[in-house]
Amino acid sequence: MTKVLIIEDEKNLARFVELELTHEGFETEVCFNGRTGLEAAVAEDAEWDVILLDLMLPELNGIEVCRRVRQVSNVPIIMMTARDSVIDRVSGLDHGADDYIVKPFAIEELLARMRALLRRIEIENEENSRKQTTITFKDLTVEKENRIVRRNDEVIELTKREYELLVELMENVNVVLSREVLLQRVWGYESEVETNVVDVYIRYLRNKIDVPGEDSYIQTVRGTGYVMRN
Ligand code: CA
Repeated sequence: MTKVLIIEDEKNLARFVELELTHEGFETEVCFNGRTGLEAAVAEDAEWDVILLDLMLPELNGIEVCRRVRQVSNVPIIMMTARDSVIDRVSGLDHGADDYIVKPFAIEELLARMRALLRRIEIENEENSRKQTTITFKDLTVEKENRIVRRNDEVIELTKREYELLVELMENVNVVLSREVLLQRVWGYESEVETNVVDVYIRYLRNKIDVPGEDSYIQTVRGTGYVMRN
């Protein structure tokens, strides 16, 4: 679930945003001043996907909160500013905010910006993980440079196709990949081909990577495709 920290001292606005985001399926927490907001933002167990940060806050203003969060975290931050002045926006972005929204705003606009930001970050993460030479999932490791797959320290021999299928799944952890998408990315098929070739290769792959008697690393999503979930 996407976790959103709302730092906003206008209680009505904070509650309204919280209600709307919860309704949209986000998990939310609200802080009403800059100090508690900063504490929540950088807490050791914090796993925020987005922080919505008001500019004018008691105790510690939004710019300062943003600056201090950025010293320890890359969490996406959207500044909320009541004043539609270029200086505020620029200064928020200068201090590491990813986007800003001017109050009063329609909730749809906020949702659209949050989704765009989350999507952008997801793409960046995907690109970064593609650049990584070693990828891991639970106790599976793939060294992409020499195409070695290991479970713990044990090397697992895979065919080229099995290997590419595994890498595709491991680079998209928690993303359900349809048979069609896997066919395109792993086999390069553009046209309609028998998608059950994917099922066959998933079975080959499971036989090689899974530990007998334990849950498969690869989950079947009925009617859709496959996913590696952590
Ligand atoms: Ca305020």
